[in-house]
Amino acid sequence: MMLSRFAKSLFAIIAMMFLFTMLAMLHPPSRNYIDPWTGQLFGEGGVEKSLKAKQQIAGVNGGVIMGKLGNATAKAALGQATWKLMHTMTLRYPEHPTPDERDALKSYFYLTSRLYPCGECAAEFQLLLKKYPPQTSSRRAASLWLCAVHNEVNKRLGKKEFDCAHLDDEYDCGCGGDDNDVRTPKDVDTGADIIRGGR
Ligand SMILES: Cc1cc2nc3c(=O)[nH]c(=O)nc-3n(C[C@H](O)[C@H](O)[C@H](O)COP(=O)(O)OP(=O)(O)OC[C@H]3O[C@@H](n4cnc5c(N)ncnc54)[C@H](O)[C@@H]3O)c2cc1C
Repeated sequence: MMLSRFAKSLFAIIAMMFLFTMLAMLHPPSRNYIDPWTGQLFGEGGVEKSLKAKQQIAGVNGGVIMGKLGNATAKAALGQATWKLMHTMTLRYPEHPTPDERDALKSYFYLTSRLYPCGECAAEFQLLLKKYPPQTSSRRAASLWLCAVHNEVNKRLGKKEFDCAHLDDEYDCGCGGDDNDVRTPKDVDTGADIIRGGR
């Protein structure tokens, strides 16, 4: 039986709609969404999958971001300030860090090796981190690790080696009373003990 032109067109339209539906099912739309309360990004596959992804903090791995810093005076001032910050940080870091605190410190160094505003210094720092990965198991481990890494930079720049036994004297931030508080501070919301860092 001969089909009318109208019936043929209708048949073609229905066939195309069927085809598009099949294609859409092959490539379902992304179901990523941002929780409006927490700002947390939930990836495809729901919360559980996104929690796994969270363990890999975005941006920690990757290359140097800034360009070369030509000005030697600025480079030295930046270096002195950064070392001061990083040494003070490791010397106030908890004696018994939680896994989350360990991750935070490790991420800090890897992010610094990308974002340090002297590109050539950052590139050297990346090589050092590859050779000597950050030690984060305790305050002592972290501060001695950083001291050794700083000494590696000193060696490369022809500077004197620093005696890491004198870290505490060099970086006394004047907050020495904190550790002597016999009352363990509590988190106001959870009541959990807060571990305080160093001098
Ligand atoms: C991650 C990083 C990478 C760098 N890479 C380069 C680079 O590639 N090229 C470049 O020209 N500059 C680089 N710098 C800067 C450089 O390390 C110095 O900061 C800068 O040359 C000034 O040196 P400084 O002699 O004043 O002492 P700094 O090395 O800045 O040290 C400051 C003070 O820290 C103390 N100190 C020294 N060694 C140690 C140690 N091992 N542990 C603890 N305390 C110590 C001393 O009291 C010293 O006076 C880098 C800095 C950083 C933070």
